[in-house]
Amino acid sequence: MTVQQPIQEPSFRESVDLMFNRAVALMDLSPGLEEKIRVCNATYTVRFGVRLRGAIHTFTGYRSVHSEHMEPVKGGIRYAMAVNQDEVEALAALMTYKCALVDAPFGGSKGGLRINPADWEEHELELITRRFAYELIKRDLINPAQNVPAPDMGTGEREMAWIADQYKRMNTTDINGAACVTGKPTNAGGIAGRVEATGRGVQYALREFFRYPEDVAKAHLSGKLEGKHIIVQGLGNVGYHAAKFLCEEDGAKIIGIIERDGALYNENGLDVEAVRAWIVKHGGVTGYPDAEHRVAGAELLEAECDILIPAALEGVINLGNADRIKAPLIIEAANGPVTAGADAILREKGCVIIPDMYANAGGVTVSYFEWVKNLSHIRFGRMQRRQEESRHQLVVDELERLSADKHLGWTISPGFKEKYLRGADEIELVRSGLDDTMRAAYQAMRAVWYERDDVDDLRTAAYLVSIRKVADSYRAKGL
Ligand code: NAD
Repeated sequence: MTVQQPIQEPSFRESVDLMFNRAVALMDLSPGLEEKIRVCNATYTVRFGVRLRGAIHTFTGYRSVHSEHMEPVKGGIRYAMAVNQDEVEALAALMTYKCALVDAPFGGSKGGLRINPADWEEHELELITRRFAYELIKRDLINPAQNVPAPDMGTGEREMAWIADQYKRMNTTDINGAACVTGKPTNAGGIAGRVEATGRGVQYALREFFRYPEDVAKAHLSGKLEGKHIIVQGLGNVGYHAAKFLCEEDGAKIIGIIERDGALYNENGLDVEAVRAWIVKHGGVTGYPDAEHRVAGAELLEAECDILIPAALEGVINLGNADRIKAPLIIEAANGPVTAGADAILREKGCVIIPDMYANAGGVTVSYFEWVKNLSHIRFGRMQRRQEESRHQLVVDELERLSADKHLGWTISPGFKEKYLRGADEIELVRSGLDDTMRAAYQAMRAVWYERDDVDDLRTAAYLVSIRKVADSYRAKGL
């Protein structure tokens, strides 16, 4: 009897390097500069003990800095048992390319702590987080001018608030202390719209894609986003917001949701809010009443749909399932969900992939806005809002005067006055800045996709745009 060997694939970091190499081969960079950009500058590993439940528990954490062509460097902190050096280095590299692509003025970094957050009580997680933060802060691996973390898988506003507070306790006179980390709650120096930002960015990316019928045709699709059948993997921060907005605001239909404990399928569309509420209450999707539950959840990645949104973790579309994936359009909301080998198979099949470094850049974009807000010590819109309203009032007064004139026969549409009069608040400004960023970055990628005969996919186009920017900054620095 022959034993089937698991298919060997490169590691996550090797996979990112392969994709980088594929793109850089089309550029004219000097070999030295190419190598400088590709390698990860430094990875710090820390092992620290915390006394919990009457015993000392040792935890392992990482903070990797991929490129310091711009500082501070930026990238999330992930809490998961699978965290390892290879993974944080791959994620740090993606951060470099992502920031360059969306013109966020940062180098790339990433951190991780090998922990299952579900194993610990909230007060224990606080002690662990503060201790991890202490280790990184004392080495300037958390610092508003040098290294600014953000949330990632397994972390959120709560952890970011603890980190910010820890930094302030250790740097009591740093007036810019709040800018040491982004993704904080709004009552602790955060910005409106950061929690939803990555999912919102996925929505804006798809909207931009569907603005170009030629691009939609490349994915063997037609028409609008409305009515498209979508399968999402991971209903966490990114997946939930993306699914919710696409469903509620664009009329798309979420027909499948894949979670850790299986998948839900309903061809008439799932109620995203209800599924999320079920997961929060029951810890998984099992038992959810209004859908078919499939135990082998990952198999739903292979189902018929128009758009597949992997929004959980890396490597889920790999050599083992790539040839069975039927979705003609994949948008990588997670980092690295498609391995380099699977990417080649899918390209061959004509599947269009909107790559991670672009698709999930909404998070770092709004993190950039938060960092700027913290350094400027003022909420966006605070100076302009009332002034904008009073200028709008002048127009409304004039329109009201004209519509009072019976001879003209003008009327003002219901609701116009209230909508027009209201000046933009922070959330509107954040969404507008995010939308503009996602559109501009898509257009930059798309231009390369169309202009170069040797580029037939958006990922290579994205790499070309971002590597060029990183190379230019290194050259400007004299390297
Ligand atoms: P999260 O922890 O909020 O959510 C992850 C979700 O995936 C959870 O619901 C979890 O149960 C589910 N999941 C985990 N393993 C799974 C599996 N094997 N099969 C199916 N579902 C599984 O994390 P998040 O912040 O939403 O991050 C998700 C992805 O998006 C990660 O790749 C992360 O790096 C990337 N990302 C996140 C942000 C951000 O702002 N949070 C920004 C950019 C990229």
